[in-house]
Amino acid sequence: MSGTVTCSFDFNATGKQTGYLRIGDSTNNSGWTTFQVPIVMITNGSGPTVLVLAGNHGDEYEGQIAASSLSRELQPEEVTGRVIIIPCLSQEASRAGTRLWPNGANFNRVFPGVENGSLDQKLAFFMSNDLFPICDGVLDMHSGGRSMYFIPSSNMVWVADPARRVKMIKNMLAWNTSVHMIGGEQPSTNPYALLNREAERQGKSVSTGEFGGSGYSTPETIKIIGDGLRNFLQDFGVLKTESNSRVKEGLKSAKIIDFRDPAGFVSATKAGIYENCVPLGGHVNAGDVVGKIHDFDHPDVAPTNVTAAISGVISVIRGFPPVTTGDVVCVVGKSFTSLKQMEEVAG
Ligand SMILES: [Zn+2]
Repeated sequence: MSGTVTCSFDFNATGKQTGYLRIGDSTNNSGWTTFQVPIVMITNGSGPTVLVLAGNHGDEYEGQIAASSLSRELQPEEVTGRVIIIPCLSQEASRAGTRLWPNGANFNRVFPGVENGSLDQKLAFFMSNDLFPICDGVLDMHSGGRSMYFIPSSNMVWVADPARRVKMIKNMLAWNTSVHMIGGEQPSTNPYALLNREAERQGKSVSTGEFGGSGYSTPETIKIIGDGLRNFLQDFGVLKTESNSRVKEGLKSAKIIDFRDPAGFVSATKAGIYENCVPLGGHVNAGDVVGKIHDFDHPDVAPTNVTAAISGVISVIRGFPPVTTGDVVCVVGKSFTSLKQMEEVAG
């Protein structure tokens, strides 16, 4: 149990509760204070407990909007079980329009947390020790943030363990989005510092997605993530309404975009202002120009071309144009009509 974070309501209460997680803090301006994170819980009857999370990264607003809307709209009579919603995990980062917390912390790298650490570490410790253990499912909604824009989609990491993978595929498809993206393990990252991985280590059913980005939202992305979130909750059995499927809705089957190949990640080769030259979802061949880097100081110098190393579909484009060497500016993935086709062709 965390000794430094409390919740203003009892997790065993029924009906709808709105309150705060209170993280003990002491600042120059306020010796005795608490840092408050809004939390909503809707409980009715028996069923699973699902934790809905957004704003893990501050400048990813699509999930924060969808989770806030769900907090207001969802009523106990629609629920069978318990839905716990934290619409914005990284409050200060969200207000500032930044990915990271003001202290430099990337909230998705601080798990399982530290009981007496910094605010972010305390919150992560509480989630790992008090919140995840009472949940069956954990949803963590992301997007590209200010620096990137993804094809809005639910997604997953193609893990080696087949049993884990089957569970993750089921959860990814449950969003019922038109596109699902499959990525590889993030390079140079301790996977156990990630929120999802900690929840998974505890045996929880975990799912995520990248629902746009660039630090803003559009009616399209909000509809995709809002509908997807409800579809997931229905499929998981915590909403009384019947589960959706693309077949039932008369929709085309979802596209799979595989971006596991590290060669699909295109990085800036110099500092400058990046220009996207191929639209999101466009097709490129290996060697094609995907973008140009304009020189900050020498507008008379021709821009530097950035090219794709493999053929495929532009799955992620650059959001924030200023780049430095090494910044990912574009991701080329392979498009498939089904997971089966992806496994046959790409393994
Ligand atoms: Zn994120």
